Amino acid sequence: MDRNAVKPATLAAQAAGVIDEASGGVVPPIHMSTTFVRDRDYGLLNADNTYVRYHNEPVRVAETMLAALEGAAASLVFPSGMAAIAAAFRWVPTGGAVVVQSGIYWGTTKWIREFCTRRQISLYEVDAADLPALQAACDGPRDLVFVETPSNPWLKTTDIRAAADIAHNAGAILVVDSTAATPLLTKPLALGADIVMHSATKAINGHTDVLGGVLSTSAITSTWQGIEADRNDAGAVMGPFEAWLMVRGMRTLPLRVERMCENAAKVTDFLADHLNVEDVFYPGLVSHPGHGLAAIQMQGGFGFLLSFLVKGGRDAALRVAGRLNLFHRATSLGGVESLVEHRHTIEPDTGIPENLLRVSVGIEDAGDLIDDLAQALGQ
Ligand code: PLP
Repeated sequence: MDRNAVKPATLAAQAAGVIDEASGGVVPPIHMSTTFVRDRDYGLLNADNTYVRYHNEPVRVAETMLAALEGAAASLVFPSGMAAIAAAFRWVPTGGAVVVQSGIYWGTTKWIREFCTRRQISLYEVDAADLPALQAACDGPRDLVFVETPSNPWLKTTDIRAAADIAHNAGAILVVDSTAATPLLTKPLALGADIVMHSATKAINGHTDVLGGVLSTSAITSTWQGIEADRNDAGAVMGPFEAWLMVRGMRTLPLRVERMCENAAKVTDFLADHLNVEDVFYPGLVSHPGHGLAAIQMQGGFGFLLSFLVKGGRDAALRVAGRLNLFHRATSLGGVESLVEHRHTIEPDTGIPENLLRVSVGIEDAGDLIDDLAQALGQ
C-alpha cells in the first residue's frame, strides 16, 4: 500500500509510518543526544546526524508528518509560532515592502511593526478579507503578503486563492497563518499560497503543554533554503523532547479537530440564539459574512475558535467570563480543554470591543459546555 496515499487520520495515528528501527517499538523514539559520534576514519556513524541544531530526529519525524498533512514540499519546525513568523519575514531585504492583514493575532502585528521599523521596510496593513482593499495595498512591488484565516479574534475569512494571485502579481510571496484552520481544514498551499504557518502550540500539539511553530512550503525555493539555513545557523530549533511531545499530540489531531469542530458548531448555534448575546463571529454560521467562502475553502468543519459579544458591555462580559465553571479563563487556543478570554484586557488599544469574549472550544461534552454557558449568560 502507498503510505503517501493514506488519509490524514491514518497518517497521523501512525506517525507517518515511523517506527523505532532499533527496538522495533511502534512509537517514534526520543533521541536526546545533542551530538553524534564519528568513527576512527572521521566518518559520521550516521550520515544524517551531526549536531542537534542541524539534525534532530524527533523534529524530522514532526516535519515529515506536518509536510504530509499539509501537502507540502517540506516543513520546518520552530520553537514557537512567533519564531516561525519571524523566520518567514527575516529574509525580506532592508527597504523592502510587505502587506499584512489588519486585525489578526496582536503578537504578530506588534512584532511585524517593530521589525519593519528597524529594517526600514514599508508596511501596508489592510483588511485582507476585503479583496479590493488588498489589491489596492499591492499596487506596487511587494516582497511578502501575510494573511491569517480565519483570523484571531475576529474570525474573518480571507480568500487564499485570490490573495495568492494578488500577491504574485505584485511580485510577492503569500504566507498564510492557518493556525485556526489547522493543517486539516484548509490547504493554503493547494490554493496558491507559497508558505503556510501554524502556531503548533495550538491544535497541532493540542495538549497545552508544548510551545511550537511550523512553516511549510509549496516548493523548495531559494527563499525557503535561506529560511532553513537561518533557522539552523541562528538556532531557532525545537528541542527533541518538545518535538517528541508534539508528535505524540499530532497522532490524535484529526480526531480532536473533528470533535472540536462539532462542539464549536453546537456552541455557536446556542450562542447565536441567546437573548444576552449581541453577535457571534464564527465562519460556520450562515449569517457570518465569510461563510460562503469558508464553506468552499474549509473542508470538514469551521474550526474551534469563535468570538461573541455580550449584551451590556464590558462589565457584563467580564461577569459572564467570571461565572463560567468549565471554560478556563486563560489565553491561547486549540487545546483539548475549552478556554475563554476577554481580549480587551490583553490588548486594550487595538479596537477590540470591551464586550468581546473569545472562546476556544475543546473536546469536552458539548452539552456540558452549553449548560455552563447557559448558567453564565443567564436564561
Ligand atoms: N498565530 C496565531 C493565530 C496565534 O493565535 C498565535 C498565538 O496565540 C501565534 C500565531 C503565535 O504563536 P506562539 O504563541 O506559538 O508563538
